[in-house]
Amino acid sequence: MQVLSYRYRLYPNRAQNVGLEMMLGSFCDLYNAGLQQRIEAYRRQGKTLRYIDQAAELKAVRVVDERLAGYSFSAEQQVLRRLDKAFTAFFRRLKTKTKAGFPRFQAKNRFDSAEFRVGDGLTVRKSKRLGITGIPGEIKVNWHRDLPIGAKIGAAVLSHSAGRWFVCFQIALPDQEVQPRDGAAVGIDVGLSNLIATSDGERVETPQWTRHAAKKQRRLQRALARCKRGSKRRLKAKQRLARHSAATANQRQNFLHTLSRALVDRYAVIALEDLSVDRLARSMLAKAVHNAAWGQLRHFIEYKAASAGVRVDVIDPRGTSQTCPACGAVVAKTLSDRVHRCDCGCVLDRDVAAAKVIQQRAQGTRPGHGLRTPSQRDAA
Ligand SMILES: [Zn+2]
Repeated sequence: MQVLSYRYRLYPNRAQNVGLEMMLGSFCDLYNAGLQQRIEAYRRQGKTLRYIDQAAELKAVRVVDERLAGYSFSAEQQVLRRLDKAFTAFFRRLKTKTKAGFPRFQAKNRFDSAEFRVGDGLTVRKSKRLGITGIPGEIKVNWHRDLPIGAKIGAAVLSHSAGRWFVCFQIALPDQEVQPRDGAAVGIDVGLSNLIATSDGERVETPQWTRHAAKKQRRLQRALARCKRGSKRRLKAKQRLARHSAATANQRQNFLHTLSRALVDRYAVIALEDLSVDRLARSMLAKAVHNAAWGQLRHFIEYKAASAGVRVDVIDPRGTSQTCPACGAVVAKTLSDRVHRCDCGCVLDRDVAAAKVIQQRAQGTRPGHGLRTPSQRDAA
């Protein structure tokens, strides 16, 4: 089963906008009340409340709380589920002894989403507008793309971000039998000056706008820092910054969708490095890696490949940039060495050479070393 999400912008009128904000406010109160109840139950009776305890009580609460009674019951259950998840994550962190932050009370301006079951609390009306329990009228939707035909809609998440409202449908598509495709194989290296390089010698540069966007982001952040806390001006500056971040993220996504589509259309086997973004992000390369958006590109390639019958091999990245693709010798380079130059006569762009090594590793061969066994890989 494949789960995809389809996000659409909503255009509520003024009354609906007020209604949606009030609804999220009520859900936020419910979340905080649930948290308070858990804390007190533990303090007074040493009892750990669970989701089912609180969900059972919700029914009774709705009888006396008019505000909650007016909204979707299942959406309110989801609020309690969210709280439950926060606790589960907290207990897991306690066990693994990582820094365990206790679940926190939520501020109203931060509580900006709610989850619905489609057809219950949130429905798509005949008019192609959205009906939400407790919100007057029907809300206008910009259906910029069609939902897939025959799709089963699971949940819908309503969200509020930088003054805009969105609905995100989670669509479950049945797994299709996809025939593996015949065709060429390619290795892809993630660069810093190049976003990617392929074993076929192609390079895709990191688009200029990532740098422009970063510059503007810094300017907006400085402007925000100059504003007095709690002032109207600060709120405005905050919204400008949020809007800019959202626009940059969109631009990056569009670019990566196009790039991943082109790769999946052209090749039958794609080899990638297993670069945990986490590990790199902590190094000084952090910003460049984020700009390069490698994690996102990999995700896009993987899910597009899955439905196109393209195989994706993920390989150990160690030493890929220091190995000669022609003879297998180790050719040490620093980050500033842009060219791979080996004694065997092999001269290549540094990233292209690495991409070739990645492809060779995916095929299980190393030049001059023959097949690599798994135990050797562990030892490397
Ligand atoms: Zn060589």
